[in-house]
Amino acid sequence: MKKKKTKKQAKTKTKKPKMLKTKTRVATTVLSAAVATQNKFKIVRSRRRTICLEIRGGELVVRSPLYCPKFLISKFVKEKSAWINKKIHEYNQKTRIEYQFKKSEKFLYLGEKKDLGIYTKHELQDFYKNETSKIVKNLLQKYDRAFTFDKSKVTFKFYKSKWGSCTAKNRLSFNAILSMASPTVIEYIVVHELAHTEIKNHSKAFWGLVLSHSSNYKKCREYLRDNRDFLHL
Ligand SMILES: [Zn+2]
Repeated sequence: MKKKKTKKQAKTKTKKPKMLKTKTRVATTVLSAAVATQNKFKIVRSRRRTICLEIRGGELVVRSPLYCPKFLISKFVKEKSAWINKKIHEYNQKTRIEYQFKKSEKFLYLGEKKDLGIYTKHELQDFYKNETSKIVKNLLQKYDRAFTFDKSKVTFKFYKSKWGSCTAKNRLSFNAILSMASPTVIEYIVVHELAHTEIKNHSKAFWGLVLSHSSNYKKCREYLRDNRDFLHL
C-alpha cells in the first residue's frame, strides 16, 4: 500500500462550482498565501469535463477542460481563494514535525505522544522497528487461517513512501514506523497487505475483502492520509 501523496482535490463541474466544498480535504503541501491572492497557478488541460483545484508540490494546479477560457479559470480560482487560504492556514497548523531528539521530547507511540525515555534517532528506530515487528507478527498470527502467505519472509524497514507491500510471491513487508500509529490503524495495514495475497489490485472486490476484516478501514485510510507528516522519525 502506497503512502498516499497528499493530493487534495476540489472537484466541481464547470457549471456547478458549488460542489467544490463537498470534496475538499486538508491540504498539507506548501502553498504560500501569495499564490492564491496573486492568482499564480499552473493550468493542466486535458480531456476532462470539470475544473479541479489541486495543491501540489508547493503550487496551485488547476486541471481544466481543453477549451475552457483562461478568464473563466481565473474567475474560478478567485472565487475559491477563501478555500485555498483556508487550506494554507490548516497547513500551517499542521506542518511536518521535525524532531529535535532532546531529553524529555515526546514521540508518537500507538497513536499517542509519549516520553519514551529514548532520545537518539538510532535507538528510537530500533524501538519502533521492534515494536512494529512484535505487533504485526501477532496480527499475522491472528489472520493466519484466513490468508496464505510466506511467514518466514516478513520484513520491516523504514520506507519513505509506503506503509506496507505484498509481492507476487506473497511476501509481506511493513514500514517499521507503523507502531507510531494506533493499533486499529496498524491492524488495517496488516489486513490491507494480507488482502493483497488474494487480490493484487485495489478493485471493488479488494476493498470488499478488506472491509470484511476491518470494518472501519475508511477511517484508518483517512488517518494515514492526514497524519503521514507525523509518522516518521
Ligand atoms: Zn494496496
